[in-house]
This record gives sequence, C-alpha cells and structure tokens, in this order.
Amino acid sequence: MKYSLKIFTVFGIPVELHFSFLLLMVVIYLVAIFNLVPGVDVTIAVLITLLFAAVVLHELTHSYVAQGYGVEIDRIVLLPIGGVSAMKELPKDPHQELMIAIAGPLVNLVLAAVLYPVYLFFGDSLSPGLNFLFFYFILMNLVLGAFNLLPAFPMDGGRVLRAYLAQKMSFIKATETAASIGKTLAIIMAIVGIFFNPFLIFIAIFVYLGADQESKMVLLNTLLEGINVEDIMTGEVKTVKPTDTVNEVFRLIFRHRHMGYPVYDGENLVGIITFHDLSPVPEEKKNLPVEEFMTRDVLVTSPDEDVATVMEKLNINKVGRLPVIEGGRLVGIISKTDIMKAMEIRKGTMNS
Ligand SMILES: [Zn+2]
Repeated sequence: MKYSLKIFTVFGIPVELHFSFLLLMVVIYLVAIFNLVPGVDVTIAVLITLLFAAVVLHELTHSYVAQGYGVEIDRIVLLPIGGVSAMKELPKDPHQELMIAIAGPLVNLVLAAVLYPVYLFFGDSLSPGLNFLFFYFILMNLVLGAFNLLPAFPMDGGRVLRAYLAQKMSFIKATETAASIGKTLAIIMAIVGIFFNPFLIFIAIFVYLGADQESKMVLLNTLLEGINVEDIMTGEVKTVKPTDTVNEVFRLIFRHRHMGYPVYDGENLVGIITFHDLSPVPEEKKNLPVEEFMTRDVLVTSPDEDVATVMEKLNINKVGRLPVIEGGRLVGIISKTDIMKAMEIRKGTMNS
C-alpha cells in the first residue's frame, strides 16, 4: 500500500495513515476551524478523530491476535473505512485466519454494545456536544464492525468466510468460492443502490474489485508456490546483435514467433527488443540497427528467484519477459506466457 505516512509504532508495528484518511481529517479540520460549511464545527472535527481511534483499535486488535499466533505484522495502514494489517504471510491454519479476521470487527461491535446502555443511562446528563459525540462514536463502531463483517473481500468478513470454507475444502477453492459470493453480494448491492442510494454503487464497485483482486492474488501465490525461474525458463535463448537491422529482427520474430529478444553484443546484455518496440518503425528506417529502438534499461532476474515475485515484477513494470542472468551470463529468458502456462498446469493437477 503506497501513499501512506507513518505516524507511530505499537507492539513494534509501524502504523501508517493513508493519504485519503489524512486528507479527510485535514479538510474537515480546516472546514471546522474556518467555519467554511455551516454545521461543520469543532465537534465534527473531534468526531473524525474518534473515527480514527475506532479504526486504530480495530486494526490493533487484528494485529494483537495475529501476533498471539506468531504471525508477523509488517505494518498497519489506516483507511477511513477500516484499514489494513499487512501480514508478512497469511496464516496457514484456517482457524487462525478466522480468529484474526473476526477480532477487528468484533472489538468495534462489543464496544458499541457496551457503550450503548451507558449512553442511554447518562446521555441526557451530558452537554449537547458531548451527547452528540458519544452517540456518533457508538454508531461509528457499529457501522465499522458491521460493514467489515460483510462476507466479501476485501472486508474482514470475506476472510472469515474464506477461513470457514477452507476448513472444508482447499485454500484455492475456498478463496474462489468466497470471491464469487462477494461478487454476487456486490452486484446485489449495486442493484439496490440504483433504486435507493447511489453511495451503495460505489461500495459495490469497491467490493467487486477487491474480491476479484484477492482471488487472483491468492491463486497466483498458491499456484506458483515453490516454482523458481530455472524450473520454467527457456534455457536456449535466441539473441540478436545490436547491429542487426530492424528487418532482420522482424524476420526472426516471424520465423520463431517469440515476440521479444535480448540484445547481446557477444559479452554483455545491452538491451531488449520486442515486437512492440519495432512495429511503429517506419518503412524507411527498417534498415537501421535495432540498438536505436531497443530498451537499454533491462530488468533482469536470476535462476533461483521465485516465479511469483517475477510475475509481480512483470506486472508492475508492464513488460512481457525478463532475461535470466547468472554470474553476469545470460542463461535464459522467462516470459509471462511461460508463467501463465505453469499456472494452468498446476491448476489442472490441483483440481483433480
Ligand atoms: Zn479489519
């Protein structure tokens, strides 16, 4: 999670504030201090701070339970709708995942349940401002708890559902099932939103994308677990020389149907050239050497790197293949297609 600012450390875990939350707080404080919007006063600003406290409590509870199981927490990122406790790795035991996921929303619900009778009893004796704050703090905890228990990724409820299902089926199947339940819920939410409240449509989109992303990520990590680059790379690499012309490389692409080639000067890898780089080259320039069109800053990998990390590199940098370098020597090439094929084969063997 980028775009966040570290604010403090608890239980040895850095707590970061996401910029969306920071912005929300700053805007509301400014509006309140300068009286920019009628009705938004310091009470509202304090309310946002209480929301912040409720979210911190929620996340710390997740982390506390996780640490109890020996699961390391990388950092906590606070968002207005709940936040994310980034675990170094997912707990393998579904029961542990269930307890970690349910702890956060539960603490908000319990807090609301404990405070509500207190409010009913003492609320009237408070000043109108404090009464308002007290009531909304309870409501916020109720909403935070309930919203996060929705059985859909990326909410805690999605994780609870997955953990529950994983006790009866494989982790992959449980993730896929939980994701499709989440997506169905999102579609229903969007339809309800069309008729009642457009805000629901936004939440529905958020839920739909979250379910989709989570299931893809888990699928990827599980299917690629234990596979290293050397297991699936193409060992015999066709390379081109920097002085080869565009036309020559086009002929090579046509003959071998590989869409990209490392550019090798006999000693060093000096670049990479792809069909994508060459296709816009105008006719009159096709007798020029490819070094004029190649990418020089080549991202590389090594034979012992795990394939899930390579897939991440490919996706983040929007490239299709990485040359494999060992001891300064080009020993292979690995493409997105290679990885997808490996995933497909793994999936086929796992489902049977
Ligand atoms: Zn949570």
